[in-house]
Amino acid sequence: MTQEGEVSPATTVIEVGILGATGMVGQQFIALLANHPWFRVTWLGASHRSEGKTYRDAAVWRLPAALPDGIAALGVDQSTPGRAPKLVFSGLDSSVAGEIEGAFAEAGHFIISNSKNYRMEPDVPLLIPEVNADHLALLQIQAASRAWKGRIVTNPNCSTVVLSMALAPLRQFGLKSVVITTLQAISGAGYPGVPSWDILGNVIPFIDGEEHKIETETKKILGCFTEKRVDPHPVTVSASTTRVAVQDGHTESISVGFEHRPLAEVMIEAFNTFKGKPQELSLPSAPAQPVVYLNERNRPQPALDVDRGRGMTVSVGRLRPCSVLDYKFIALGHNTIRGAAGAAILNAELLHSEGLL
Ligand code: NAP
Repeated sequence: MTQEGEVSPATTVIEVGILGATGMVGQQFIALLANHPWFRVTWLGASHRSEGKTYRDAAVWRLPAALPDGIAALGVDQSTPGRAPKLVFSGLDSSVAGEIEGAFAEAGHFIISNSKNYRMEPDVPLLIPEVNADHLALLQIQAASRAWKGRIVTNPNCSTVVLSMALAPLRQFGLKSVVITTLQAISGAGYPGVPSWDILGNVIPFIDGEEHKIETETKKILGCFTEKRVDPHPVTVSASTTRVAVQDGHTESISVGFEHRPLAEVMIEAFNTFKGKPQELSLPSAPAQPVVYLNERNRPQPALDVDRGRGMTVSVGRLRPCSVLDYKFIALGHNTIRGAAGAAILNAELLHSEGLL
């Protein structure tokens, strides 16, 4: 197993593993890491259903990008620590992620997780590198508070990441209240996910646990790190979530109230000029512009805008006054890229650049 050396990130090859490699998010990891300049996939883990098979036989590949030959021939291992490289991305089902990710961290692995299980733990960073890179300081608290030789860093729920990236440029105006309704893609439910009978020509106004995740995770992400903990942002969030017959891309209708109501053009400027550590450091997966405001009156749309910035950009549009709060607008992001695998890879790139792996 190769581990990172003393050389600069650009010339290092780091072996990585993927837990939940056969799932929807696992497949995005494989596609996004296929030509990654720093990370090379050498280990795959999934359930007993897949264990012992080659990846080609274990997974039904569902992405338009070709399955790389080297990955197709790789064997799928059991999801127990020991044989995987130090750095492991996780797209595990949340029913098992708590136990498995904890065991890997205990054994010395660095887990970059997509699952909900550890996101709200006070010593675990819930990271969006453009928004709260300073929350990585929680890793020192984690090291002191857990008997883990490794660490866990998480990325947000796929709807929360879109909302938090749209709100982060607006923090400067004193975010007070947010009302959000989501229109979420079917890929967000994994595979086989929602039965076609239920979703075709339909809208399902319930996604188990999603509203609570949006309402709580957003406050942690936008919160302030102060010495030993993250103090949640005081903004109040009220969420309604729906599943719609869209393949990829979560669309969100957002109303927002401020302490200091800005002019609309000032908000648009704030969206378009928003940048963070990934852009400063030119991380490989960083979009040039994390948030883009679209002036067309019928955008953003998942069919047209979901792949902006290789799926890492959040598109915003339709900013207008709100007669209940101050303003309302629409945001859109790619749920399995910015909302999952791409987010986790960007987190790992930041950790590597900061010498934290
Ligand atoms: P998925 O398609 O259902 O994939 C689940 C993965 O977990 C599969 O690789 C499966 O392996 C593995 N798994 C299931 N039970 C296991 C067990 N007992 N031991 C080891 N592995 C097991 O789900 P997904 O949509 O990729 O989501 C994965 C995680 O990411 C979830 O926690 C989800 O909430 C989160 N997430 C998803 C999205 C999204 O847009 N889809 C976005 C953000 C976060 P087998 O194939 O062998 O069963």
